[in-house]
Amino acid sequence: MLLARKGHRVLLLDRDRFPSDMGQSTHLIHPLGVAHLRTWGVLSQIAARAVPFTDWRVDLHGTVLEGAPPAVDGHDTSHGPRRRLLDGVLAEAAVAAGAEFRDGVRVVDLALDDGRVAGVVTGGADGSRQVERARLVIGADGPGSVVARAAGARESLVEPVVQSNIWSYWEGIALDHVRLYIRERKGAFAFPSSDGTVLVAANLMHDEFVRARHDREAAFHARVADVAPDLHAMLPEARQTEEFHAGCTRAFVREAAGPGWALVGDAGMKKDPVTAQGISTAFRCAEMAAEAADEGLGGGRPLDEALAAYAAARDEWLLPYYRFTAQLARFARPTERLATYYRAIRDDPAETARLFGAVALTHSPEDVLPAA
Ligand SMILES: Cc1cc2nc3c(=O)[nH]c(=O)nc-3n(C[C@H](O)[C@H](O)[C@H](O)COP(=O)(O)OP(=O)(O)OC[C@H]3O[C@@H](n4cnc5c(N)ncnc54)[C@H](O)[C@@H]3O)c2cc1C
Repeated sequence: MLLARKGHRVLLLDRDRFPSDMGQSTHLIHPLGVAHLRTWGVLSQIAARAVPFTDWRVDLHGTVLEGAPPAVDGHDTSHGPRRRLLDGVLAEAAVAAGAEFRDGVRVVDLALDDGRVAGVVTGGADGSRQVERARLVIGADGPGSVVARAAGARESLVEPVVQSNIWSYWEGIALDHVRLYIRERKGAFAFPSSDGTVLVAANLMHDEFVRARHDREAAFHARVADVAPDLHAMLPEARQTEEFHAGCTRAFVREAAGPGWALVGDAGMKKDPVTAQGISTAFRCAEMAAEAADEGLGGGRPLDEALAAYAAARDEWLLPYYRFTAQLARFARPTERLATYYRAIRDDPAETARLFGAVALTHSPEDVLPAA
């Protein structure tokens, strides 16, 4: 969408048939991501079906912090749209901007010219292969990225799966904010989603999650009743609208660009979902990569130099959030210094907002949190 709007010829490929959903992710979008949706002119379509909300109530090991994460460019709302809504709106906007979108087309490899990426190879179920040539290939193909693998993007800072989520959706819960409960080795959260539903989720450490694989429903209820009894008490009066979902991930950082290729979103960096940063991060990276690509393809700067600058800027921006997220995902008992800090900021709305900003990608965690 962004490159098509800048006048470039864009071919957009996705292996799924649209509209498609992504059942393995919750989908809270922080004000940073929502500000991108607004800039791109698609927010009203999302907001029509996924209500806005601003406030958070975060219970950190018994210290309750209330407030809202900082606004971004004057924009302060979050939304929790289902992915079939979000992805559909973005794909339509890309087509309206002039991109050619082919769904149901799987990329299986990269085409190379003298070691330089020069397009993609797509593959049909019948074993057929087709080459699509391009001066630049952007891999936005998720954590199992074929583009990353074929380009040889190096992986670093790998973290194993630490915690896992079990969640579903309910109608009839009066909740207009984010609720987050963090305890030692356990947690729960909830926020409004699409079409009048509220998402309620349990956090289990991964070993527990594996043991609970035969009865996720029981594990969900036991965990939410334990750490969030006030939230759990709302469920019997409400109607669960679908089966339970479950998801988790290992975390990694991949090189974000090389000769003729770039990675955005989870293809380039995958964080634990505990900070719900993935979608907002993907939007910001798409914006940064599109600016670099436009500069390189338009002749303002050598393409590879522009892409290398994108990769460096991405790392500089995101690595502090990556390290913070990895730490939070352990659901560890806070150090005395951290527990004191949480208590100290409880009645300080500005400091609370800064801490929430470390989650919502507006304040670098290294500037906000005390050293452990
Ligand atoms: C349990 C869980 C909860 C989460 N909760 C949140 C949350 O609340 N908020 C948040 O912001 N993030 C959350 N995340 C993270 C979020 O889901 C990801 O960061 C986000 O989906 C990344 O988007 P993406 O477009 O980079 O990748 P994806 O969403 O994985 O999309 C990749 C796309 O590429 C396509 N594709 C893949 N391979 C190919 C191929 N070979 N050829 C063609 N097409 C291909 C796929 O069909 C898909 O459409 C969560 C993750 C998990 C695991």
